[in-house]
Amino acid sequence: MKYNVINRGDDISIELMNTFHELVKPYGLVLDETEPDIVLSIGGDGTLLHAFHRYKHALDHIAFVGIHTGRLGFFADWKPDEVEQLARLMGECALENDLRAVNYPLVEIQITTQNGVETELALNEFTLKGVDTTLVAELRINDEPFETFRGDGICISTPSGSTAYNKSLGGAIVHPSLDAIQIAEIASINNRVFRTLGSSILLPKHHHCDIYPKAQQNILLSLDHLYIQRNDIVSIRSMVAAGKKVKFARFRPFPFWSRVREAFIGFER
Ligand code: NAP
Ligand code: MN
Repeated sequence: MKYNVINRGDDISIELMNTFHELVKPYGLVLDETEPDIVLSIGGDGTLLHAFHRYKHALDHIAFVGIHTGRLGFFADWKPDEVEQLARLMGECALENDLRAVNYPLVEIQITTQNGVETELALNEFTLKGVDTTLVAELRINDEPFETFRGDGICISTPSGSTAYNKSLGGAIVHPSLDAIQIAEIASINNRVFRTLGSSILLPKHHHCDIYPKAQQNILLSLDHLYIQRNDIVSIRSMVAAGKKVKFARFRPFPFWSRVREAFIGFER
């Protein structure tokens, strides 16, 4: 079994990475940056987002796992003092060639410009904002007009991203076993001219949402931690990515709702 480690670049994460390399050697795990079977992220959830985007061309064959060297992460759910346990469990999986993983849905966007269509994937969310003005955009759902949006922007998240930006926007937390994307508003302006639904909505698989920004608007597009400014966008279609999921290696049970409780509510009962 081949693996790679992506770390945040701070001293603690680098030291932990070196410890991990030593711990897995006896199990015959081989370091391979180009075609790993497992990618270990050491840092924060942001580090795992980097790892995901580095390997998004090979999601079929790669399982991700994360150690957090900051606060409890959603993706990085192993503690630094559990590195030996993680290395042993991973080593045993390598010996038995038996890797258990869960598959979580992703959001796919198709950006249409005058020059064609570009496709992108996000693990947490994709957002659209105006640069010099508020965003003005028409939203269509399954090719039917839905609303005219005016405001700071629109956030379209995956279930695993529902605990990130989406949560700050008052969106619901969605279990990653549901193949859905959530559309949440970022400070919409509501008056007699501009009227939006106000609530966030969930779209199931096979539904799609098209956003048509007002022509010639300068747009700030984000995909997870990546930001791109564009002025050539005709429309953006979002949907649950078809046939593409992210795999997270599971070496022990850590249910999603326990992670939600530990991250946002605390340990007290
Ligand atoms: P960042 O500014 O460090 O991220 C903001 C926070 O979100 C960090 O505490 C990060 O954890 C946490 N986070 C990331 N993914 C999460 C998830 N799936 N569930 C719960 N918390 C999560 O920037 P970053 O590390 O590059 O992460 C980019 C993400 O930041 C974006 O995908 C977006 O979701 C989020 N964001 C949030 C807001 C907001 O809430 N107002 C605004 C912009 C972006 P770590 O510290 O462990 O990295
Ligand atoms: Mn971060």
